[in-house]
Amino acid sequence: MTLSLEFHGAARQVTGSKHLLAVDGERVLLDCGMVQGPRRIANRLNRDLTFDAKSIDAVVLSHAHVDHSGSLPRLVKLGYQGPIHCTPATADLLEILLPDSASLQASDARTLAKRGHHFEPAYDAEDVDRTLERLVRTPYGRAIDVRPGVRASFLDAGHIIGSAQVVLDVDDGEQSLRLGFTGDCGRRNMPILRAPQPLPPCDVLITESTYGDRLHPSREEVEDQVRAFVEEQRGTGGRVLIPAFSVGRTQNVLWYLAKLIREGTIEPLPIHVDSPMSTRVTQVVARHVELFDDETRALYRQGHDPFYFPGVHFVADVEESKALNDLRSGVIVSASGMCEGGRILHHLIHTLERPEDTVLIIGYQAEGTLGRKLIEGYPHVKIFGRRMEVRCRVRTINGLSAHADWSELLEHLRPLAPTCRQAFVVHGEEDAAMKFADRLEDAGFAQVDVPLQGERFELGTAAAV
Ligand code: ZN
Repeated sequence: MTLSLEFHGAARQVTGSKHLLAVDGERVLLDCGMVQGPRRIANRLNRDLTFDAKSIDAVVLSHAHVDHSGSLPRLVKLGYQGPIHCTPATADLLEILLPDSASLQASDARTLAKRGHHFEPAYDAEDVDRTLERLVRTPYGRAIDVRPGVRASFLDAGHIIGSAQVVLDVDDGEQSLRLGFTGDCGRRNMPILRAPQPLPPCDVLITESTYGDRLHPSREEVEDQVRAFVEEQRGTGGRVLIPAFSVGRTQNVLWYLAKLIREGTIEPLPIHVDSPMSTRVTQVVARHVELFDDETRALYRQGHDPFYFPGVHFVADVEESKALNDLRSGVIVSASGMCEGGRILHHLIHTLERPEDTVLIIGYQAEGTLGRKLIEGYPHVKIFGRRMEVRCRVRTINGLSAHADWSELLEHLRPLAPTCRQAFVVHGEEDAAMKFADRLEDAGFAQVDVPLQGERFELGTAAAV
């Protein structure tokens, strides 16, 4: 049996996850993510998948975030005709996220055309429809034959709803190999989701390394910061504006606010969730109570809903959203999380110049984004071409990340060290990936590589038992 792994994305960077396992004639693609970043570069990379789409026999998808799933419609457009295996909750999220991705590209193309630039989207709504038809829903823990001699199973990754680690078992009757893939690995002590399930002993490991060189503050610290910033605003009057990603972060911040109000730590206050996407995603998350951790399921049994509690209002339409301009107290949670588009921009226009208001940043802000400028303390920013003075408070909470930090990830992987013959570190900036690779070696992993984009590795097998 000949086995190889090729890395076509998320190699020394954090987006565009695509890992290709070749077993004799069979080619199984793990994730098919979009590259995110400056449009000109991202668009070129997202149009060229760097492998032949028609040569792929099966796709196994770890989770719905577009940096793992967003190029699936491109794969289908370029001729992929096989199944896309994922968990049921991942499929539910893809039904929201992929059409949104197509419509964002279409609207970008229209805007650029007005300025005389040509921009061809990587795919359109029809490609998305044809992609969604290929989804095969498989719950955690059930093994599926994705190709002859290749079985896949999903383990909870605790990262976002439906997120999975993937175990691939390859066996041709004479030789066998087990590959473990962390996907994006969540955290042990986060609200709502369960802790990542332990991976079984593996011969080959592919691990993420987003926070390969960073530690997160504890959950108690996060809770205390949410309390402090809400109280601070209440003391001076004004409102708190929270830019939040629709998947995960919006639900987490609601969960924390619900807890603080329920326990009487903060006074009840109006909370407006203003993003059509966040509203739909929260509905999907709330449909999957079976995937929640014991703590959050117990809340439901006691009659407490962590998302739809008194005071929370999901904004229905643009008129209601505009009415929030006059709101001078309470909390507004809106998207996008990096302040690069969406309704958050309108709310920022009515917040930035008011010293009594707070912008509370709770997620990663990529370089060059408006959110990054705010945390870096720019005195002026531009929104829709309008120069605005930043006079409001800008506060940051770092501990809401849905990725394990290096110490959590290392503890998760350490039990695999004695059996793992080859480990590959992906999905991290070069520095973070390199440091995490060193930590794996220190923990006893025999051979650890940080692959380059397009790099290919031969894999050794063991005699089948
Ligand atoms: Zn993710």
